[in-house]
Amino acid sequence: AVKGWDSPPMMIGIAVDGGCGATTFLNRLLLVLGMDVGMVVTADHTPVGDLATVVNIDDYRVNDRAGCEALGHTEADLTENDLDLLRAQLSALKQGKAIYKPVYNHITGLKDIPERVEPNALMIFEGLHPFADESLRRALDLSIYIDIPATMKFFWKARRDVEERFWTTEQLKADIERTKSAFAQFVEPQKRNADLILVYEPSEARGLPYLNVKLIQKKHGAFTPVSLTKEVLLAGPVAGRLRSYDDDWFGSPVTVLEMDGEFDHVDIDYDDEVREVEEHLLNLAFQWPGQLTEIMKQQRKIGLPGCLDGTGLFQTIIAMQTRGLYDHELPA
Ligand code: ADP
Repeated sequence: AVKGWDSPPMMIGIAVDGGCGATTFLNRLLLVLGMDVGMVVTADHTPVGDLATVVNIDDYRVNDRAGCEALGHTEADLTENDLDLLRAQLSALKQGKAIYKPVYNHITGLKDIPERVEPNALMIFEGLHPFADESLRRALDLSIYIDIPATMKFFWKARRDVEERFWTTEQLKADIERTKSAFAQFVEPQKRNADLILVYEPSEARGLPYLNVKLIQKKHGAFTPVSLTKEVLLAGPVAGRLRSYDDDWFGSPVTVLEMDGEFDHVDIDYDDEVREVEEHLLNLAFQWPGQLTEIMKQQRKIGLPGCLDGTGLFQTIIAMQTRGLYDHELPA
């Protein structure tokens, strides 16, 4: 059904730690939705596209950096985040009202002047606590938790903080340590109730730097779980396998898609392997057959990280299912 522009926005929450790939994930989502990659600007600035608006919820900090430190708190503490304001603003946007969103400036550590944000067809809220309680989670149409177990944090975050920000490994370790307990207490519990959980673990067959990635999909949500009709073996240099199975996630029935290892990095073999996987996927929301393979090839061409392993594949599947939901709910 085609709805008018006054239909409520579709709201998505993505719970993800800093430096854990939110920008890359958002780029995949926007690419699949047919929007420009590169539109996403992290922190301090709310990027707005024709149909989608991304809000980094670091903006809802209660105190500036000095105030937070003076209290001995970290950004992972609930009390440092104005979740009442977030809740009120989610509800206003859902009703089609514009908001004045606070702005936290990561460079100065101060709070800047609030900025006006209009409701948009798709609104994405990413950061540490997008669905820290039931009322927040209910205000969202889809909740996604990116789960990087504590043992993987250093490996994963080093890509940004050591390689791009030139931190020393000691600085990174200290930073992970700084937020560890608040993270476990206030951020991690969100994964129990999320609709989708993406788990990144070391490869079972090969260990790091190769990954075993799971996409855990609640069976009774808005999101239609994707599964495989059979196990698929990959024959490249980092031989891998994909399978799907039913499981239980904190008491809820889930469908799990799991990929250990990598697709072949040689273009022609890559295409064949992704195509084989695509042919065995059940319930994928494609617009035309072969679309997943084409999207993965396109992402590889523009250099999005993670195209060889389950991170890129499953982020793309999430994006395609989300587009399916969105087409269903919103005007073409
Ligand atoms: P954030 O927005 O959380 O800072 P980015 O998407 O910018 O995260 O990613 C942080 C770092 O991790 C970048 O160096 C990026 O290239 C790398 N990265 C992100 N996603 C993946 C992935 N799926 N596989 C491999 N590396 C990734």
